[in-house]
Amino acid sequence: MTEVVEVGTLDIAAPVVVTGGGGFIGGHLVARLRDMGVEHVRAVDRKPVEQWYQHFADVECQVGDLSSIETSRRAAEGMGSVFHLAADMGGMGFIESNKALCMLSVLPSTHMLVAARDAGVSRYFYASSACVYAEGKQTSADVTALRETDAYPAMPEDGYGWEKLFSERMARHFLEDFGLETRVARYHNVYGPMGTYDGGREKAPAAMCRKIIEAKLSGSDEIEIWGDGEQTRSFMYVDDCVDGTLRLTASACSEPLNVGSSELVTINQLTSICEDIAGITVRRRYLTDAPLGVRGRNSDNERIRADLGWEPTISLVDGMERTYAWIYDQMVSSRRRVSALSATP
Ligand code: NAD
Repeated sequence: MTEVVEVGTLDIAAPVVVTGGGGFIGGHLVARLRDMGVEHVRAVDRKPVEQWYQHFADVECQVGDLSSIETSRRAAEGMGSVFHLAADMGGMGFIESNKALCMLSVLPSTHMLVAARDAGVSRYFYASSACVYAEGKQTSADVTALRETDAYPAMPEDGYGWEKLFSERMARHFLEDFGLETRVARYHNVYGPMGTYDGGREKAPAAMCRKIIEAKLSGSDEIEIWGDGEQTRSFMYVDDCVDGTLRLTASACSEPLNVGSSELVTINQLTSICEDIAGITVRRRYLTDAPLGVRGRNSDNERIRADLGWEPTISLVDGMERTYAWIYDQMVSSRRRVSALSATP
């Protein structure tokens, strides 16, 4: 039986399933839904549970690949709301060299829509991305923030962005043709603790924390920066991302909406913030042939302010302090484990 429950001040149809619940944003969303009193939360991910960033004894965990329609049907069965976050994704280094893999996320996106429609789900949230925006509108570091209408005429990020744009449109047509109440957020760079910070899928804020922490712990005074450091971005702290996701899902707004911070910084400024937190200064070695993505990108938040009466508020300095602290703890404990193992006779 599904019912509408109050999640804080919002009405969310329960029970709730979060796909990609073993991932970064999905893990935080599951944690928030639990904290807010949703009794039955289901989290689905293809990774083994031991590799999930967050998991909880009172959350129903399903491990399976949502590329299969059967797994998607099992995920949606009996649910009031679906939050579909599962996708193959990573930072620019990952998405530029894994276009086919990124586009294969169309399978979970398609199957979850079909499964949600057939299961009679009340609300369906889809996590899209600022990578849907036309690259031609992001060629200068001195950006004009992107409005929702800038996605068309379409020329998104190759691979990852095309899949997101296609799945956005599919969500729209499931609403128009089948009456499934879909909501779509275009997330702009999300960061925070309990996410990936090494291995190749990490994004700029986590990678920057890791590089500065490595420099601090090793006593080295040099880090590598992709590009000339003057490319611009905005970064949204994960708590704001979860807030925006829940507010949008509970709202009447069925058009894709930017969910992103409008605090624009250069990568050099991001580096300086991280240096201040760490209390060190590093020499910056610029790798101009590294994958760069667009030259500048920011979120225009006029629509989200008008439609939801809300926009992200957590400053980059505050969010980076929390992110740095978590990554620092992870790296120090992993170093301790390695030295304990090598000291074992
Ligand atoms: P993440 O990689 O940490 O989480 C995604 C999770 O989905 C992973 O745990 C992965 O194992 C799972 N997954 C992937 N394919 C699956 C499949 N076929 N079946 C089951 N599970 C599968 O990424 P994230 O940063 O938490 O991103 C969540 C969503 O938000 C994604 O859709 C992503 O494209 C979107 N998004 C994220 C950002 C960001 O900055 N993090 C920006 C824009 C959009």
